[in-house]
Amino acid sequence: MSIDTQDATAAASTGISAFYGAFINNEFTAASGPSFPAFDAGTGAHLADIARCGSAEIEEAVRAARVAFPAWKALAAEERAALLLKLADAVEANLPRLALIDAQDIGRKVGETALDHQFAINQYRYFAAATITHEGWGRPIPNGYLVAKREPYGVCGQIIPWNVPAIMAAFKIAPAVAAGNTVVLKPDENASLSTLELGKLIAEIFPPGVINIVPGMGEEAGAALTAHPGVDKLAFTGSSEVGRLISVAGGKRLVPVSLELGGKSPNIVFPDTDKLDSVVDNASFAALYCNGQSCLAGTRLFVHDDIYDEFMAKMVAAFKRIKVGPAHDTSSSLSGLISEEQGLRVLGYIEKGLAEGAKLLTGGKRVAVPGYEHGYFIEPTIFEATNDMVIAQEEIFGPVLTVIRWNDFDQMIHEANNVRYGLAAGVYTSNLKNAMATADRLEAGSVWINSYFNLASGSPFGGFKESGIGSEYCHETLNMYTHLKSITLQNEPSDAWFVPSP
Ligand code: NAD
Repeated sequence: MSIDTQDATAAASTGISAFYGAFINNEFTAASGPSFPAFDAGTGAHLADIARCGSAEIEEAVRAARVAFPAWKALAAEERAALLLKLADAVEANLPRLALIDAQDIGRKVGETALDHQFAINQYRYFAAATITHEGWGRPIPNGYLVAKREPYGVCGQIIPWNVPAIMAAFKIAPAVAAGNTVVLKPDENASLSTLELGKLIAEIFPPGVINIVPGMGEEAGAALTAHPGVDKLAFTGSSEVGRLISVAGGKRLVPVSLELGGKSPNIVFPDTDKLDSVVDNASFAALYCNGQSCLAGTRLFVHDDIYDEFMAKMVAAFKRIKVGPAHDTSSSLSGLISEEQGLRVLGYIEKGLAEGAKLLTGGKRVAVPGYEHGYFIEPTIFEATNDMVIAQEEIFGPVLTVIRWNDFDQMIHEANNVRYGLAAGVYTSNLKNAMATADRLEAGSVWINSYFNLASGSPFGGFKESGIGSEYCHETLNMYTHLKSITLQNEPSDAWFVPSP
């Protein structure tokens, strides 16, 4: 297929526009000024052009969001919830199309990107329900009442990464608007298309200005958004390095900042584990879902000495059976990485692992997929390593698993915690005491026992240490998007007592 034919096929099946401006006040701005292209991550086909927005568009979007805020805040929670439910239905009706757009834009399996959108739909529905039950509190006090109520901040500036754009957009938009805020969201420059398409659905449902989407580069649109004096709250998902910049920007203006950052999560196998084959399957999924480009990935697998040989023989055999293929191919389970830059970064870590003496058990090479020469496909890779190695400490964001042998419980816990991150962890055991003792001692925002990635709606999702500040995906998230205000009512003024009588 020539690039031109692929262009036509992509455009016909996904309904994407040739050009996307900024989405402000429910309209896309016209093409003017610089733009950047979106390419199919696998084939390199040109998909669309996107406005490279900067401070002018951020200014316009923040203004729109400020104008929309008072009326949006004044709506009853039930009315805001009704619109979120409509958005969930609209995404559901467009799911195959949106999943295909993401599969092309970021190169991930279309089955996975469809799951992302299902997850996003669940988010919109969850926060529609949550906002109605997000109650303040009150109590009678002598001669009156004390009321504590939650109030939205105002305009939320939100910035998201490229790996799971549908989930990231929903994680940000759903709680913010449910709580009565308005939003200016910047998608990632590597994965803007499905979020901009979401704008088309939003335009049919929400009042103008409630949700605005401004595409562009991090150092331009992103930096302008974080520095804008009209933004009342910042929320960011991405790398810990950029998270630090966002935190500084929030600190300068003293606005609250929530951060969801990187991870290097331990996944711990006890010798008493039942169903070893299922654990191998789950540990493989933990490392390879999203082609390993997931902040939550279980990338450090701690396997006990007593079962190490048997378990690792199964693990290596499993990785060897995993086929790599294009995003739309249903016979393979791993596809390509987002970009050449990311591919080279991952290959660089594989070289680093070899150089520091880690033992390569399987994988380690780039895979050629005919017709997809543009894509960066990498074999599912396992290293046997120690926890102090670079490949065990740094986030690789690719299909690379590091396995660490353990036999002493306290030492294993020390190593599991001995990274700068603390996002998630997995534990496999048939012993309840092991499970709970380990979960209690792990420094991680989410601990999954016997099933990694077991994310039920409403599970708090957030990081310890350098993995972030705040929790998303749960009722508590609404607190992150609201101030707590107390109103104290006294039935009538007290009798005068302070000033001496005349
Ligand atoms: P990144 O930090 O480079 O970029 C994320 C976003 O920040 C992009 O939209 C980018 O344009 C923007 N950005 C970059 N520089 C900026 C600046 N100076 N000012 C404002 N915005 C700026 O991250 P990435 O490479 O796109 O994504 C991968 C990272 O995201 C990984 O570390 C991963 O673990 C993390 N992540 C975390 C979660 C989570 O929920 N904890 C989820 C997904 C990804």
